[in-house]
Formats: sequence, structure tokens, C-alpha cells
Amino acid sequence: MIYLDNSATTKPSAAVIEAMTRTLQEDYGNPSSLYKLGLSAEKLLKASRVSVAKSLGASSEEIFFTSCGTESDNTAIKAVWESRNKQGKRVITTQVEHPAVLNCCKWLQSKGADVVFLPVDRRGLISLEALEQALTDDTILVSIMHVNNESGAIMPIAEISALLKKKGSKAVFHSDGVQSWGKLPLDMKALGVDLYSVSGHKVHGPKGVGALYVKKGLHLPAFMHGGGQELNFRSGTENMPGIAGIGAAAEAIISSLPQKAKAMEAAKLHLKERLMADIDNIRFNGPDADGPGACRDAAPSVMNVSFIGCRGEVLLHTLDTAGICVSTGSACSSKVKGSHVLSAMGLKPEEIEGAVRFSFSDENTPEEMDYVVDTLKAAVESQRRLRAAFKKR
Ligand code: PLP
Repeated sequence: MIYLDNSATTKPSAAVIEAMTRTLQEDYGNPSSLYKLGLSAEKLLKASRVSVAKSLGASSEEIFFTSCGTESDNTAIKAVWESRNKQGKRVITTQVEHPAVLNCCKWLQSKGADVVFLPVDRRGLISLEALEQALTDDTILVSIMHVNNESGAIMPIAEISALLKKKGSKAVFHSDGVQSWGKLPLDMKALGVDLYSVSGHKVHGPKGVGALYVKKGLHLPAFMHGGGQELNFRSGTENMPGIAGIGAAAEAIISSLPQKAKAMEAAKLHLKERLMADIDNIRFNGPDADGPGACRDAAPSVMNVSFIGCRGEVLLHTLDTAGICVSTGSACSSKVKGSHVLSAMGLKPEEIEGAVRFSFSDENTPEEMDYVVDTLKAAVESQRRLRAAFKKR
């Protein structure tokens, strides 16, 4: 199988599986228990927190474990709204966020929030001028994702935080980093964010665990009330197998991010080059449209391509039959018609209809990409022929 849907989820690594299995079989204590088994679990909890913190350039007191990226996003957005909505009602986000942010902000609208959904350009990026214009004195939250899960566009997070600082804004700055963690070098201080969401299963860790970075000094109300775990912020007995797994995944990021990103990019660029050479009437979406090779603002992990005259969904199923996994967009919205991201980028209906997202891990190889292009070329030609014949009838 050739797995090219790493933005949907990734294969857990051997180190992750080992760490989780050990937690289930041996280190199964409750970290709140006072005897040795509990203390050993507490040690493991601390070690995972240190690893996640280090991979984000943060300190361990700034990391809170959650159940997924969606929970991290919900916690960040709802906690800021709850604690600051007396100071202002404006929330700024973008039209291309993941539903975890988008639908949270739409829910805030029902609570009285004045939400601005910033548009993006053809490359999938917001403009700093539009953000500056939307920024009012009563803006309490800005939530802008780092890497887009469909287009691979890298938003200018450090520039956004610099702008907020320059304008003396009191807004809390949250970024959804689910698709940037493990793909880009990250340093929370350099990025200047207050809140940052990550998820275990996008970085060869397990599903059902995520983390939220909360900048030191930022006080937010508890998300879950109960026994006071996670410094009272998120009660509930910790998901220790998941936390051990996300810790192991973070360790791999710390030790080999540059090599991993290079391997992803090598596979991506080989695929891009071969697609350009072998299949006509295609369109790269997002920053990859700028030309051959690596493009500015494009993540090494995602490439979105429209095969004009084809239906992406039909290509997906043909590739699946040949043992290749791709997607037509975000897994969470794959059952919903059309892509809100590609629409916001101004793509024509036939470009959206023919879009396929390839997303890479460091395990993908250029040789695999040769097989993908050969299979795709036959699939695209056959679909175009069939559709042309059907139209003539
Ligand atoms: N944010 C982004 C950008 C994503 O791509 C995803 C998952 O696809 C999420 C949030 C949600 O993460 P999780 O699946 O861990 O809830």
C-alpha cells in the first residue's frame, strides 16, 4: 500500500506502539496514586509533557494534554470567549480553518460574538492588511491556523503576532498547529502565539490525544471540572497510553524533524515534477501553483492538485483499487460536498471537482511516486475519455 493521506492520519511508529503497550501492560497506574505504580505513571506523564514542550520550544508547565486537536481548538476558543466576552465581542478567524475552529466560531456567533472570517487569496493566504482592518479595540481573540490541511499554505503566524503587538491589541492569539507540528520547526516564543493546538495522530502518534500550549501567565477558566488533573484546567484521569504515545511521537520530532521534513519534501517534489511532465491540464492549488520545485509558503507535507475534466472522488477510488490512499480534502469533511477551503481560494467548480490532496510522511519514497503517477495517468486519461464520450451522446 502507498499511503498518501498523512494529513488525515498517520501510521503509529514502532516507538509509539512500544511506549503505549508498555503503559497498558506494565505502567498502568493512575498518576494521582501515591504508591510506586502511581508514581511511575506520574513520572511518565511528566516525561511526555517535557517531550511535547521541547518539540514546540515551550516549557512543560505550558503544555496541557487533551483528547485531540478538536478539543484543543475548542478549549482555546471557548475558554478565551468565556473569560473575555465582557471586554469585547470581536473574534477574528479565517474562512479556511478546519471545522474544529470554524464551527466553534459559528457557535460563538450564537452566543453574541461578532466573528470576522477573513478571506484568503488564490494561494490560500490571508492578507495582513485585511487583518489590520478587522482588528478593533474590542477584539478578544484571533484564531488563525498555521498550515492549512487542504492547500498546505503556511500562514504568516510570526508576522500576525508582530502586528497584534504593534497595534497594542489585547486579543489572545490562538493558532491551530495540527498540520504544522512535525512538519515545520516550531518555537512558540518566536511565533509569538498565546495558544497553539496539536494532535497526536498526525505525527505518528495515537488517535485520541492532543495537546494545547498555553503561554505562561495566560489564565483561562477550566474546560473540564473534576479531580483537578492538568493543573485544574482539564480534569479527568489522564489517558496514559495516549500520553505515552504522543510523548514518543514528540521525541521523534525532536531528534529528526529536519530529516523527516526533507524526506517528505523529496517525495512531494518528485511527484510534482512527474505530474507536470506526464499529465496535462492539471492545476496545482495553493502556494505550489507558483511553479516547479519547492515554493515559498508551501508545507513539505501537502500538495493539492486539480485534474481538470475528472472527478477527484472517482480518481480516489481508482487509486484505492491500485493500493494508493489519497483524499479529496479533509477527512472530517470528506462526506460534505465541495471544499470550503478551495472555494475560499476562488477555484472554479471544475477545479474543485477534480481536486485531489496528496499528503506525505517521511516513509514515502520517490519510487512510490513513480507508481502513483503511472496509475494516475491511466486513470485520468480513461476518465476524461469516458466523460467526453458521455457528453457526445
Ligand atoms: N485542525 C486541523 C488543521 C486538522 O487538520 C485536524 C484534523 O484533520 C484537526 C484540527 C482536528 O484534529 P483531531 O483529528 O485530532 O481532532
